[in-house]
Amino acid sequence: MRTLLVTGGAGFLGSHFVRRLLRYEEIARITVLDALTYAGHAENLGEAFLDSRMHFVEGDILDADVVDHLLAQHDHVVHFAAESHVDRSLYEASTFLTTNVQGTRTLLDAARRRGVAKFVHVSTDEVYGPLLTGAADESAPLRPTVPYAASKAASDLVAMSYFHTYGVPVCITRSSNNYGPRQHPEKIIPLFVTRLLNGQPVTLHGRGQHVRNWLHVDDNCAGIELVLRSGSPGEVYNIGGGTDLSSKELTGELLRICGSGWDQVRYIPDRLANDQRYAMDWSKLAALGYQPARDFQAGLEETVDWYRRNPDRWAPLSRSPLPSPRSAHSAQSLQEPQHA
Ligand code: NAD
Repeated sequence: MRTLLVTGGAGFLGSHFVRRLLRYEEIARITVLDALTYAGHAENLGEAFLDSRMHFVEGDILDADVVDHLLAQHDHVVHFAAESHVDRSLYEASTFLTTNVQGTRTLLDAARRRGVAKFVHVSTDEVYGPLLTGAADESAPLRPTVPYAASKAASDLVAMSYFHTYGVPVCITRSSNNYGPRQHPEKIIPLFVTRLLNGQPVTLHGRGQHVRNWLHVDDNCAGIELVLRSGSPGEVYNIGGGTDLSSKELTGELLRICGSGWDQVRYIPDRLANDQRYAMDWSKLAALGYQPARDFQAGLEETVDWYRRNPDRWAPLSRSPLPSPRSAHSAQSLQEPQHA
């Protein structure tokens, strides 16, 4: 593995992944292609800019000329770029379908023309939809419920069709909910942390009963790297962490770490199509050697500490609230900040 194109490398996961890969001497060049939407920040790449092997291109994955030019120079692709926030997809599905589906198709067309050694498409457990019991393995049916998850499921299917039809060496990773430093404060953990650190209330949907599996961003990046190196083309790999929590349980952890009490918590009507529980079986990747290494408590404390020490990074991002989507169960408009 010598040359790598990383799309969405100025976002949360992509920037962690680029920093990780630059540790390896075998890497001759990493090019980040990122449109720097509201979610992308070049500062996320930090000291990676000091490494002469890292190149940054501000551009859109929908721009076929740019993508074709870059694919001619790189032999591996890791595709993170996406619209990633569930709540936003509830009122602007069109952007999600354009970026996540057509953007992925644009990259795959270029990969097909130029010939790449591996194309890793980064996806999510949300494509499986809610499971009240059990856990989805990679052969489980795709039952996405919200536009974000549907756009990711569609992009997964398009990616796999390019493997079957044209032989593009595609692997797909599907991970659970990530947490860690430098995540945009629209997502639940940084949203709650930044509000609690500011002495503001946080809001729980419904009764706070929705269960998610939590995965440290370092563990996801390790799993994606393993798939990049050892995954078989045409295969999907689930990547999970060791901690399942309801949103109420997660809130309890964050209150404790931030030194806040339950009087800071407000309950609001449930979000549209808020899936009750996600759960994945990731034994397929474990058979290749994957094990999540990060302890949840320690990882969460380190994450809160990053937000405590870097208010200049997240405070400007916290000032653009979402429009208020309407609840499925109430005609009332929701005025409190939402989260995924
Ligand atoms: P993010 O929103 O932090 O970053 C997305 C990046 O993509 C941003 O830098 C943005 O500028 C860039 N981007 C958006 N549209 C673009 C376009 N048209 N052209 C070029 N760049 C564009 O997202 P993230 O949390 O880092 O997620 C990265 C990927 O991982 C996404 O595909 C997401 O679906 C997937 N994923 C994320 C999680 C999670 O918990 N964060 C879990 C599972 C899967």
